[in-house]
Amino acid sequence: MEDFKQISPHFHKETFCKWAYDVLVCIEKAWSFKDFDILRRYETSTLYEIHEHQLNNMKKREVQNIMSDFELLDSQIISYTQENHIDKIEMKIQLSLIDYFISLKDSKKILGSQSQSRIVEYQVTFIKEQNIPFQQFIYSDLKECPYCGAPIDIYNHDYCEYCKQELKAEDTGFLIDKIEIISLI
Ligand SMILES: [Zn+2]
Repeated sequence: MEDFKQISPHFHKETFCKWAYDVLVCIEKAWSFKDFDILRRYETSTLYEIHEHQLNNMKKREVQNIMSDFELLDSQIISYTQENHIDKIEMKIQLSLIDYFISLKDSKKILGSQSQSRIVEYQVTFIKEQNIPFQQFIYSDLKECPYCGAPIDIYNHDYCEYCKQELKAEDTGFLIDKIEIISLI
């Protein structure tokens, strides 16, 4: 594994692990509500095109895959490499979530459980072109809304429940290039 300081002298492993989890949750919420803008913001064009195709397919079939109640179990970096001016970080992220499918025709559930959480382990690949600067991010540890001071639950809502201000993960310059499910219980 290369030295993370090659990415930036400000690179902080634990904070990055939290940020990676936040972004993964962002992506899953965006997937649930077919929010293409969020997917485009955090995914490479390769991954975005795959997801866009899959979501449009679901749209045609009038199906919605809803994921909610995310809880972080583990997030760790498994490798960091540099190749062809690209920084590549591979991570293992384990979380529990509610995951089910509904039909948009009658809002009835067609697959999965609305009450029983599942545990999923992902292998997620983040990449950043080296000419794009690594940016610090601020909010992963935030317990209070920076706008109104109300307590916030950043893992379950990406907005403040009190003042409704959006609290999305800050960009770091890294984008998700690949998401693989390693195990699903
Ligand atoms: Zn607020």
